[in-house]
Amino acid sequence: MSVLDNVRDLVKTVSPNCICDDCITQKLDLSVRQHANHKTRELAGSPSFFRAKQRCSYCGDEKLSIRAY
Ligand SMILES: [Zn+2]
Repeated sequence: MSVLDNVRDLVKTVSPNCICDDCITQKLDLSVRQHANHKTRELAGSPSFFRAKQRCSYCGDEKLSIRAY
């Protein structure tokens, strides 16, 4: 399983909630914040994911969060 697979699985699991990069980093225990950032940007390019500035369902902050349809 690649990190991208893990991120994709997590986003699908928490759906229909959305989750920000920081919470993804925390939940998957990623070491570098940029890593989640890079992966969610990659996912956002695929049709079944939506990434925008919205309220994260976990930390409650309004920032770039991703969700699966
Ligand atoms: Zn969050």
